[in-house]
Amino acid sequence: MRVRTTAVAPFFKNGYVVSCESTGEGVLIDPGDEVKALLDFARADRVDVRAILLTHAHMDHITGVGHAKAVLHVPIWLDRADLFLYEDVVEQGKMFGFEVDPQPPVDNFYDHAMPFRFGNYVVDVLPTPGHCPGGVCLAIGTIASPARELFVGDTLFAGSIGRTDLPGGDYETLIRSIRDVLFAFPDDTIVHAGHGPDTTIGDERRTNPFLT
Ligand SMILES: [Zn+2]
Repeated sequence: MRVRTTAVAPFFKNGYVVSCESTGEGVLIDPGDEVKALLDFARADRVDVRAILLTHAHMDHITGVGHAKAVLHVPIWLDRADLFLYEDVVEQGKMFGFEVDPQPPVDNFYDHAMPFRFGNYVVDVLPTPGHCPGGVCLAIGTIASPARELFVGDTLFAGSIGRTDLPGGDYETLIRSIRDVLFAFPDDTIVHAGHGPDTTIGDERRTNPFLT
C-alpha cells in the first residue's frame, strides 16, 4: 500500500492518497485545504483515483472535496448520519470564523455496496460514532491478507481522542467506538490519524491517557 499524506494551516488536518503499488488504482481520503498537494501526489505517482472517501464531514476534512471532484470526476462517499454536517459546511465555517464554499452533493452513502475495492486492496468501512454521528474509520488492506491499516479521521489521535463538544458529539459513544471497534485490531496495526502523527493500536492501548 502506498500512502501519501500532507497537512496545511490553519487546521493541519491530514489528507491522504492511498494507492495500490501494482495496479495504480487508489482513493483520496478527506481532502481539505491541502487538496492541491494531494492531487500533485496522485499525479506524480500516476494514481488512478477511483473515489473520494470521507471519514466524517467536519469542515477541515471536506473543504477540498469540490476541487477534487472537479479534477477527478469520481464519486464522493460519506456516512449518511453526517449529511447534516456536510450540507451545513458554510455555517460550520462561520462558527470558526472562516469563509467556506458549499461542496458538491455526496454521491454515495456507505450503507450501500460496501466494501469498496481499488486494485488489490479492499476498504472496510467501520462506523465509529462519537466525534460526530456519522464518523467512520476506513480499514484498508489487501484482499489476500487480514492485515489492515486504519484511517481513523478524528476518532483517535496519538495520545488523544477526538473532541466531543461539537454538534452530535458524545464522549461515551466515542470511547465505546474506540474500545469495541478499533481496539479489536492487533497491536501492530498502523493508525493514520486525522491530525498529527501516525500511531499504532498497541501504543494507544498501552499509553493513551483517555483509554488506559
Ligand atoms: Zn472532526
